[in-house]
Amino acid sequence: MLERRAACRKAIAQSVFDVAVIGGGINGATVYAELCRRGYRTLLAERGDFAGGSSQSTAMWVWGGLLYLSTLDFSTVVKLCASRDRLIDELPAWVRPAPNRLLVTPESRNGAWFLNFALWLYWGLGGFRRRMPLQQSEFPERRLFRDGHIANTLLYEEGSIVPSDTRFIARWILPWSGPDRPALNYCEVAGGCRDAADGQWRIELRDRVTGEETVARARWVVNAAGVWTDQLNERFGIETAWKHVFGKGVFIVLPRDPCHDTSLTLENRLDDFYSLIPWGPVALWGPTETVSPDPESGFVAEAGDVRMLLEELNRHLARPVGPEDIVALRCGVRPLAVKRSYRSDRYTLGISRRHVVARDAQLPWISLYGGKLSSCLSLGAEVADTIGLALAPAQRGAEAPRAAASQNGTERFPGLEQPVTSVGSAVKAEWCLTLEDYLRRRTNIAQWVPRHGLGRRGEHVERLAVMAEQFPGVDGVRGARALAAYETRVEREFDHVLAAV
Ligand SMILES: Cc1cc2nc3c(=O)[nH]c(=O)nc-3n(C[C@H](O)[C@H](O)[C@H](O)COP(=O)(O)OP(=O)(O)OC[C@H]3O[C@@H](n4cnc5c(N)ncnc54)[C@H](O)[C@@H]3O)c2cc1C
Repeated sequence: MLERRAACRKAIAQSVFDVAVIGGGINGATVYAELCRRGYRTLLAERGDFAGGSSQSTAMWVWGGLLYLSTLDFSTVVKLCASRDRLIDELPAWVRPAPNRLLVTPESRNGAWFLNFALWLYWGLGGFRRRMPLQQSEFPERRLFRDGHIANTLLYEEGSIVPSDTRFIARWILPWSGPDRPALNYCEVAGGCRDAADGQWRIELRDRVTGEETVARARWVVNAAGVWTDQLNERFGIETAWKHVFGKGVFIVLPRDPCHDTSLTLENRLDDFYSLIPWGPVALWGPTETVSPDPESGFVAEAGDVRMLLEELNRHLARPVGPEDIVALRCGVRPLAVKRSYRSDRYTLGISRRHVVARDAQLPWISLYGGKLSSCLSLGAEVADTIGLALAPAQRGAEAPRAAASQNGTERFPGLEQPVTSVGSAVKAEWCLTLEDYLRRRTNIAQWVPRHGLGRRGEHVERLAVMAEQFPGVDGVRGARALAAYETRVEREFDHVLAAV
C-alpha cells in the first residue's frame, strides 16, 4: 500500500498530466473517472480521505429536484429527473429506485390536494418514468405516529444510493487509479502557479502520510474542492464570477424500527421538510439547513441542531425519542453556487443546488460550484467537453477500468447483521489508511453502531484496538494512539454535544 503510494508519487514527479483534478468528493471523482474514460492522463489529489468532505453526509438521495417546483424552475427539474433516471438505468447496483412517502398532518401548511398536484406535475416533468404518485391513507409505518396524527400520505419515487455515498464515490475513483492515472488520498495541494514559459501548471503536493513534497505538472486544472473552492482559487490567483455560500446540514441517526422501510417526509415549522430515511439498521432524521459563516465551523453538529431535530420528530411520534436513543450524528456543509455579487446571510434553502462549471476566460482552469449526486454524470461530461474543445486526449480509446475493488474479504462486527469489508481488504484494495477511514467511509460502522462504533458503554473499544493495528505503518503504540484520538473525537463531537441537549 505504502509502496503503491511511492510509485504514484514517482510517476507524478516524472509526468506531465493533461488534467489535475483537486478534490475527491462526488464532483472530483466523477470528473476524474470521465476524463480517464476519454483517454486523458489525469491526476486526482485529495487532501483527506476520498469522500471525506461534504459528500460523506448526504441523504443518499438521487432526486429530480422536487424543491424547484416552488420556484417554477421546470427546466432544472426536467434535467435533474433525466440525470436521476440515467443513474438508475446505468448503475442499477449502486442507484436504486426509492419510494418516498410525504406525510400530511392536520397542521400541514400544504394540503394533500396541493401536494398531490405537485407530485403529478413532477412525475410528468420526469417523463412519467418513475412510479405513478399514489395517495394512501394506510401505510406500514403508521404505528410509529401518534393516533390520528397522519391525515393522508402521498407516495412517489426517487432514486437512492446503496450501500453508502462514500462507497459510491470510491467506486468512481478506485478502478481507474494507478501510476498512469494516480488518484491519491491524503495528498494536499498546498499551492502552485502557472509557468508562462511552457503554459503548464506547477502544483505543489504534500503527502500527508509521509510529509514528502512533490511538484506535479498539468496542462489543465479542475478545482473540485467543494466548500474550499474559493480558498484554493485565491491561492492560485484565480477569479471567477461565482462563489460559494455554505449551508450546514445535520442528521441525527436513530435505530430503525423493523416496520420502517420507506423514506417518510414531513413538513417542519421552518418552511422546509425533514425526512426519516431508513438505512440498514438505522434511520436518518433531517437534514437541517442553516447558514454557516465559513466551511470549517459547519462540519460539527451542535446541541441546538440536535435539539431542534428531536423537537420536530417528537411532534409526530407515538413514542418520543431522546438524546440517549441517538446512535450517531451526521453533519456536512452544502457548497451552494451564487454570483460573486451575492450579498446575504439569509436562509440558504432558497438557493439553487445546481452546479456551475466556471471556465477561466484566459487560463486552462475550471472551477466547480454547487453540484449534486443526481447530476454527477452530466457534470463529468460537461467538464470533459469543455476541456475537449482545447485539448485532445493523450490516448485514443479509453481502457476499460479494472473491476471495482472486490469485497470478498469481509468480517463481522458486533451488532451488525451483514458482514463488513475487512480491514485487510479495505487497506489493500480501497486505499484505506486510518481507523476513521475504515469506520466512517469503507464501512458504515461509525454510523450504524452506537457512539460512532465505540458502543454505548465503550464495549467495542477492544475490538477497535485490534483493528487499529492493522493499518500500514502502524504498530501497537501507534494503533493505541490512533484509537485514543478517535475516542477523544467521539467524546467531543458526540458525547459532549448530546450532554448539552
Ligand atoms: C446534510 C446534507 C445532505 C445532503 N444530501 C444530499 C442528497 O441526498 N443528494 C445530493 O445529491 N446531494 C446532497 N447533499 C449535497 C452534496 O453533499 C454536495 O453537494 C456534494 O457532496 C458536494 O460535493 P463536492 O465534490 O463538491 O465537495 P466535497 O465532497 O466536499 O469534496 C471536495 C473535496 O476537496 C478536498 N480539498 C479541499 N481543498 C483541497 C486541497 N487544497 N487539496 C486537495 N484536496 C482538497 C476536500 O478534502 C474534499 O474532500 C447534501 C449535503 C448535506 C450537507
